[in-house]
Amino acid sequence: MPSTFEYSFDTPSYKGKVALNTGLFIGGKFVDPVEGGTHDVINPTTGKLTTKISVATKPDIDTAVKAAQKAFNESWGLKVPGAQRGKLLMKLADLLEEHRSELAAIEALDNGKTWSWAYNVDVPGAFSCIRYYAGWADKNSGQVIETAETKFAYTRHEPIGVVGQIIPWNFPLLMLAWKLGPALATGNAIVLKPSEFTPLSALRVAELLNEAGFPPGVVNIVNGYGHTAGAAIAEHMDIDKVAFTGSTIVGRKIMEYAAKSNLKNVTLELGGKSPNIILDDADLDQAVAWAAHGVFWNHGQTCCAGTRIFVHEKIYDEFLERFTKKAQALKLGDPFAKETNQGPQVSKTQFDRIMGYIESGKQDGATVHLGGSPHGSEGYFISPTIFTNTKPNMKIVREEIFGPVGVVIKFSTEEEVIEQANDTHYGLAAAVFSKHIDRALKIAHKLNAGTCWVNCANTLDTQIPFGGYKQSGIGRELGEYALTNYTNVKAVHINLGMEI
Ligand code: NAD
Repeated sequence: MPSTFEYSFDTPSYKGKVALNTGLFIGGKFVDPVEGGTHDVINPTTGKLTTKISVATKPDIDTAVKAAQKAFNESWGLKVPGAQRGKLLMKLADLLEEHRSELAAIEALDNGKTWSWAYNVDVPGAFSCIRYYAGWADKNSGQVIETAETKFAYTRHEPIGVVGQIIPWNFPLLMLAWKLGPALATGNAIVLKPSEFTPLSALRVAELLNEAGFPPGVVNIVNGYGHTAGAAIAEHMDIDKVAFTGSTIVGRKIMEYAAKSNLKNVTLELGGKSPNIILDDADLDQAVAWAAHGVFWNHGQTCCAGTRIFVHEKIYDEFLERFTKKAQALKLGDPFAKETNQGPQVSKTQFDRIMGYIESGKQDGATVHLGGSPHGSEGYFISPTIFTNTKPNMKIVREEIFGPVGVVIKFSTEEEVIEQANDTHYGLAAAVFSKHIDRALKIAHKLNAGTCWVNCANTLDTQIPFGGYKQSGIGRELGEYALTNYTNVKAVHINLGMEI
């Protein structure tokens, strides 16, 4: 029998008990994995074991796919009117909201993000996303298309079928909501794999899905490793689509698995190395505050983090001084402490990776203007780090670090900064700061990125599409656009007298 994880939170932010089933959630029930494997879940704040969870391998994925197919054919998909799907999604959103504090506590424990950010952003982001797609469930209609007097044609937006969803650890609950919302609104059945680094909130959601009343098998949540459970999803012959959020390197593998199996539909939300351009006429207070949010929020573990900060030479010194003060003011520590702004990085692996990048920056001759070292004696904390005097070919300028590390680069002309900003194989996001909207927009329109912020950074809304240009992804999440990720369009032609 799958075991239970019980935890008592007695923290300044949250007091309460959590009891989670740590098995695989398949067909509406928690079950043991066929091969019986477990994974150690580590608390990044202490580096100590939180609990063990079950991990799926290929036979479990097969079972989950069968459960999803059965649900799709018998109790979901085209069998259930959109309004009914919307009602269930609305109920799920209400339950997520009801358990807001508890879910924020699970995220803070598991990921190391601050409880207050999880409470104020991740959890409301998740329930508002599910609520938003609840509203779409009965509005995703096709079109009537006029061609000739003798033909009547219309389109249907049909669910794709069984979809596989693979998500990362930086926003475990939020990424889950971005995936479940549009897929369920459009009537698909799901096999979802959370990241092995942050499996806990998804297990709580599994219980809430049952409480909301979703038919068994509509959503199956299978924790496990990428190269086993994740690969088994991406190459499964009976999964009709895979939606992946994670690194570009794994995104490439997902496409290969899909190509080599059943050529399933693929959407990818991948990494970034986003530019943040501060023009000489920017409101400096605001630019500094947003730039710090852009790079340091969520401990730098944000796909759209503005990690390349380009500052006009006229204001460079003043910007750097103020930006440095802002970074120095960040309080690192216990994610549950009220005053903490930055918790630990998610794992030892990530910690080592980020420190490796910091070392490479030093060795390549960049200046460590601030930070550049671990923080504290336990857990995976890294001081906010600012590099200056970089060169365009340095690894710290070109590669996604996914930690609290930014480079500040001086520029003199708009043409030069646009060229440098676009000199990346990523294209997820970009930001421009200027008091003159015409200048800002002229630049925003020339940046090769799926999201362009003007006088803000790292802010997303459920209603607005999000996704990448170039190697940052394929497809769009959020907004109405995400519905197209999960629908097949069928065109029906009706002959009204056309003779052959
Ligand atoms: P990752 O690519 O290592 O892992 C993501 C998921 O893929 C995990 O669930 C993992 O278990 C699974 N996985 C790993 N190898 C696999 C394989 N061979 N086959 C199938 N699945 C496999 O990424 P991560 O470290 O979890 O997350 C960080 C990355 O995610 C960053 O690059 C970040 O930019 C990106 N990200 C992108 C967005 C976006 O919307 N564009 C959002 C969040 C994170």
